[in-house]
Amino acid sequence: MRVGIGYDVHPLVRGRKLILGGVHIPHPMGLGGHSDADLLLHSMGDALLGAAGKKDIGSLFPDNDPKYEGISSLILLTRIFQLLKKNGYRINNLDATLVAEEPKISPYVHKMKENIARALRIQTDRIGIKATTSEKMGFLGKKKAICCWAVATIQTVSGE
Ligand code: MG
Repeated sequence: MRVGIGYDVHPLVRGRKLILGGVHIPHPMGLGGHSDADLLLHSMGDALLGAAGKKDIGSLFPDNDPKYEGISSLILLTRIFQLLKKNGYRINNLDATLVAEEPKISPYVHKMKENIARALRIQTDRIGIKATTSEKMGFLGKKKAICCWAVATIQTVSGE
């Protein structure tokens, strides 16, 4: 069994969609970034890559490459799944904690899990998504950004 950790943060800005876990959440602010800025998927992707000892998501999909402008991070997550599979790894589980003052995430968690499960070819019960606030403190608490922590465990297909 191998463990990886991922972290990501993106600013909340006007004129962008808020997409988390591949779900468009209606909100006056969205996440700024080169791709769709889906920091839940970015942190999960980095956790998976870290567990496999691979380079991070920013190295694999550079944010100055026009190819990735506005791209759905579900596509990036699918590519990470393919890279792990090619290297003989199977995904055991993922767990993430979003830190956001708003909006309420819980109504969308089920759909997020379905999207992630489809991209990674795993069951939804292997995915944890939780959310908390920053108790109005700091840049997260002042609604300037949303961040996410994620942990992943993977294992070699042969069990070695
Ligand atoms: Mg990111």
